[in-house]
Amino acid sequence: MICSAPAFVLRSFDFRETSKIVVFFSKEYGKVKGILKGIRKDPRKFSTSLAPLSLNHIIFYKKRTSEIHLVSQCDLIDDFGISRGELKAYGFSSVAIELIDLLMPVEDSNPKVFDLIFDFLNTLKSHDQDTRPIFQIKMLALSGFKPHFDSCLGCDTKILHEAYFSHNRGGLLCPRCLYQDKKAEMTLPGTIASILYIEKSAWQNCLRLALLPSVKKQLEGILSCFVHFHVGRPLKTERLVHEFLDR
Ligand SMILES: [Zn+2]
Repeated sequence: MICSAPAFVLRSFDFRETSKIVVFFSKEYGKVKGILKGIRKDPRKFSTSLAPLSLNHIIFYKKRTSEIHLVSQCDLIDDFGISRGELKAYGFSSVAIELIDLLMPVEDSNPKVFDLIFDFLNTLKSHDQDTRPIFQIKMLALSGFKPHFDSCLGCDTKILHEAYFSHNRGGLLCPRCLYQDKKAEMTLPGTIASILYIEKSAWQNCLRLALLPSVKKQLEGILSCFVHFHVGRPLKTERLVHEFLDR
């Protein structure tokens, strides 16, 4: 079957002497893996540099027997101005790539995730804002790892005002269930409200949300713990990017 789709490059690696294998996230087919034969021997064969998160139009032959399909065409549409020279954009996009790759299964179509990546990249190009928490919350919600920050892990009652984040259990506890994890961290009033707002609001509206530094810090800690707990490992890029950008 011949398929055609706009697709973001997540990562690429050399294969044999002349080819590359590329992991894309496409609008219609979700995460797909493809081989670009001969690209290393003759880079002009494809009009793209395969930059991370660049948007390309790809045509590929979908094989039934293999996860790796043959890409016959890959043309750059937009690279969103991300270059290795710009540390911030490059760092933020590295975290986004790792999260997409980690959370999205192969060949599972999710156009809303595609649109989210598009919004994230356009903002990266035009704003100075740190959109990592917004991207992370929306990505978790859309990929099915819905954080469930509206109810207690212990008794399932709705969280109203007071809530504690359990790092051991990756979720919230109400004051009555706090005995289940005495090390649970008390959340600030704005933290849970911000998560719930970001989950249900459009990207442009989320950009107008002004997070207090204390709320932002707590949010980042909770999100990183949530990913670690539910995915089984922390994001490798997150710590690295934090070290060279946030200090
Ligand atoms: Zn409870």
